[in-house]
Amino acid sequence: MMTASAQTQGAARNPNPDVVIVGAGFAGLYLLHQLRELGFSCRVYEAGADVGGTWYWNRYPGARCDIESAEYSYSFSPELEQQWDWTERYAAQPEILSYLRHVAERFDLRRDIRFDTRVTTATFETVTGHWRVETDGNESVHARWVVMATGCLSVTRLPDIPGRDRFTGAAYHSGNWPHEPVDFSGRRVAVIGTGSTAIQLIPEVARQAAEVLVFQRTANFCLPARNRPLFDDERRATKARYREIREAARRTPAGVAYFPVARHGVADLPADERERLLEAAWQRGGTGLGRTFTDTLTRRESNQVVADFVRRKIRERVGDPALAAKVVPLDHPIGTKRVCLDSGYFETLTQGHVALVDARDEPVVAITQTGVQTRGQHYPVDALVFATGFDAMTGALLAIDIRTDEGVSLRDRWSAGPVSYLGLAVAGFPNLFTVTGPGSPSVLSNMVVSIEQHVEWIAHCLAWMRARGFDRIEASEPAQTEWVSHVNAAADLTLLPEARSWYTGANVPGKPRVFMPYVGGVAAYREKCDAIAKEGYSGFLFR
Ligand code: FAD
Ligand code: NAP
Repeated sequence: MMTASAQTQGAARNPNPDVVIVGAGFAGLYLLHQLRELGFSCRVYEAGADVGGTWYWNRYPGARCDIESAEYSYSFSPELEQQWDWTERYAAQPEILSYLRHVAERFDLRRDIRFDTRVTTATFETVTGHWRVETDGNESVHARWVVMATGCLSVTRLPDIPGRDRFTGAAYHSGNWPHEPVDFSGRRVAVIGTGSTAIQLIPEVARQAAEVLVFQRTANFCLPARNRPLFDDERRATKARYREIREAARRTPAGVAYFPVARHGVADLPADERERLLEAAWQRGGTGLGRTFTDTLTRRESNQVVADFVRRKIRERVGDPALAAKVVPLDHPIGTKRVCLDSGYFETLTQGHVALVDARDEPVVAITQTGVQTRGQHYPVDALVFATGFDAMTGALLAIDIRTDEGVSLRDRWSAGPVSYLGLAVAGFPNLFTVTGPGSPSVLSNMVVSIEQHVEWIAHCLAWMRARGFDRIEASEPAQTEWVSHVNAAADLTLLPEARSWYTGANVPGKPRVFMPYVGGVAAYREKCDAIAKEGYSGFLFR
């Protein structure tokens, strides 16, 4: 790893870069590489002490991707693809972090990254057309462009349960997990939450702990991951077909080549054929089951068929009818909250030292010095794990005071919910881009595919501007308004806005309820972005 002084020298060589990039996860790293290749000077600020983003922060036991490793990886470098060997179908956090560290080394990225540095404000200076970016280290830098690669799931959320700070045992949030190993052996552990994170974490915690209490407010649809080690011949086969796999992924709605392409709606098929397809998807494992039919998210009756199949499977797995009644999800259509992938979650719940507390019947009312107080009972524990999610999509952007020197602030602009042109730019904020911002497919897709698409689009746009002598780009209000209406109309054609999910901001009290990602799919979205670029960036104003 590069030393702090070497980093400082790198930065000193370049006091005012062309581009400031905020964040050094998948998005920030690729941006830095792409923009450098095009001859732009860059400075990256990263709040963490190393690269990795999500995979730097989420070190909880059991953390792994839910898109197959080979697809949850960069496609921009065929050499990197050939060099890197994924060991499991779904790579675990340490392996993904090693991969991103390897990328940083291989492309010599660290010299332009300032670690342990949080960007606090970004102000557009109207006369000079530059952004002034300030950090918590009292650094101030000017740059023509700023790209926010701050992540959709990078601001952790602790629930507003009274007494949280009173607890005298150890308390953790999954998204800010300690770097040193946490040993739960012999301890009584409470896990609050049953989203994707908790479902991965609970079986691992239960392997060690003397007692595990799972506080579930909403039961979620969980599908088996069927994770396993990869064999050499599988790796070779993938490496031989990488170009084909990447191309195929880009042409799908979710950016995943291995999901079977849905050809029929539920209503078009006889019951035995639906069952056959669902059973095949269940056996294959992974989230592809939700993509078995074309109309699962648009037709309530179709959704019901898929949901009932999964409910039946969960009942079979759980066995005990009383427990099944608690963990079978009934309150939202399948797919309207992010479907979870599990490895032994339901089986873990049936173990003698694991108990599920239904926080709907018995809400958590307080954290005490020694445990969790629900309406009916006090549960003494030694450790608390909050798997309570994130202020998603807008949290990291709004944590930075983004404004123009004429007094327009992003927080004001987004006070009723985020608006954006393509999820890439916001009217009123010139020369500012957001990677996988609200209004783009982002979290509804394989994020690496969406990140690469945004990074390449932004990089080409900057090169295009430079070639024409433009120094200012801004999304136009009419183009933004039209895009926002399209994003909302597309969501309203689906069941997605119905659920109380983080997709709509419902997990954060007081956050405006707006369905944030674009449901149109990565293939159609890419075509739209490419067409806009080809038309000379229609919908953008240049100077
Ligand atoms: P991030 O990885 O979130 O990186 C953003 C970085 O910006 C962070 O390191 C943060 O510290 C930094 N930052 C933010 N604000 C500031 C600031 N003001 N100043 C300085 N630095 C700042 N997606 C999938 O497609 N498939 C998966 O299987 C999958 N699994 C996931 C598992 C978990 C546990 C989580 C939480 C998310 C998962 N995701 C998954 C989504 C995941 O976030 C993306 O896939 C991807 O890693 C995002 O990369 P990014 O670079 O855009 O953002
Ligand atoms: P999440 O999906 O938002 O889940 C948070 C959980 O905490 C929910 O069960 C929520 O219940 C519960 N909760 C929040 N406040 C509570 C309270 N006061 N009392 C009781 N329960 C409370 O967060 P996450 O699990 O961290 O996942 C976030 C996203 O990250 C995922 O959707 C996914 O996109 C990504 N992720 C992916 C993977 C993967 O498999 N690769 C793993 C982890 C995360 P309610 O539902 O009732 O609000």
